[in-house]
Amino acid sequence: MKKRINRWPFITILILASFARTYAQRLDIYPRRCAYDYLDSIRIASNPSYLANQEFTEKRIQPYLLDNGNRLRLSAESVVTIPVVVHVIHNRKDDHIGGADNQNISDDQIRSQIDVLNEDYGNTSGYQGFYTDSLGVDTGIRFRLAGIVRKYDSRSAFNILTADKILAAISPPWSTNKYLNIWVCDLSSEYLGVAQSPVVSESNAATAGLPTSDQDETNALTDGVIIGWKVFGRNSPAVTSRIYNLGRTATHEVGHWLGLIHTWGKIRCGTDYCDDTPQAESSNSTQDISCKPVYSFCGGFASRNMIENYMDYSPDRCMSVFTNDQKRRMQAVFAVSPRRADLVRNSNSSYESLSVEIFPNPISEYLKFNVYTPNQAQFKVSVLNANGVYILNGIDNQTFINVKSFGSGIYILKVNTDHETVTKRFLVR
Ligand SMILES: [Zn+2]
Repeated sequence: MKKRINRWPFITILILASFARTYAQRLDIYPRRCAYDYLDSIRIASNPSYLANQEFTEKRIQPYLLDNGNRLRLSAESVVTIPVVVHVIHNRKDDHIGGADNQNISDDQIRSQIDVLNEDYGNTSGYQGFYTDSLGVDTGIRFRLAGIVRKYDSRSAFNILTADKILAAISPPWSTNKYLNIWVCDLSSEYLGVAQSPVVSESNAATAGLPTSDQDETNALTDGVIIGWKVFGRNSPAVTSRIYNLGRTATHEVGHWLGLIHTWGKIRCGTDYCDDTPQAESSNSTQDISCKPVYSFCGGFASRNMIENYMDYSPDRCMSVFTNDQKRRMQAVFAVSPRRADLVRNSNSSYESLSVEIFPNPISEYLKFNVYTPNQAQFKVSVLNANGVYILNGIDNQTFINVKSFGSGIYILKVNTDHETVTKRFLVR
């Protein structure tokens, strides 16, 4: 009798191996660059005024560009350096930093991301993407690492829909009119990152970054960028994707934070309000890292998609371009968005001594304040009650306080640097 061979273990191994391969591939196929459009559609569906706000933003940016063309060309010579705070939210109980499978990413990984931002926004040679496109420009925007905040949280991952408020509660932003806040964490969905758009208000220079509406108020507390820890930076054991491995998820999201829109706009063959980016049917979502040309048929003729644009979804190695119109758009946002305008003012200003402005006063919910320090020195914030007892003590670089749980009465806000202290009285009612 022929010996029966039990083939099931082999078949099981084959099935498991094939499943593992499919799953591994899917991990790389499945990620989507950015949740900007997804969150947009949800916000518009739940709040029609959100769409009106976006239209208002365009109505402010476009005339500004028309009226200030010459001035923009002149100011293009100057460089704006944005201080960046990276909030690392991790589930590593022992606080160990760095390594292959650790959400608590290394300082080197963080620094590599700042390098990428400076190379990409500076269009510096030697680190181009796949295409060497003559339309690529130096945006005149640079980034400086101002601080790293590490916070343990037992949650292993965050939902992109709710992450902004939760992350801001775990690690509050440093003053969002002075810093770009980037929260790095594990995102539970397939998305790699998301950004908050700049708020554009009726008044700008006069308001100097002060909130002008309820939307501004809540918006300021979550204003920044959220990026998955495995796609943040480059040349790190934690960066494992073969597609999103050069830190360009952050380049893309910071573009949104500065007012840029995807190259295909918001619909098929839509607009990004930049004339020098060809219309595109849709995103270049692909796992093919050969960067081969992609064509669209918009408005009656075929054209090559600018897949090398940072505001597409292309693999990191294919990206290398911000165009001149994108640069002008970001400059316009620096002018018409109060918080971004304040960021530029702060980055270019020097203050001889510590000064603090608080508002509103009296207050029932969020006390907000602007803090100006010499050489952008970091500062600490404390609150004392009328009896001189500390209610809050030594919070780093925060520029808002929720006073809801405070009883009504007079309080003292104390702000100090290593060399100076300023106190302000405020009334909670
Ligand atoms: Zn995007």
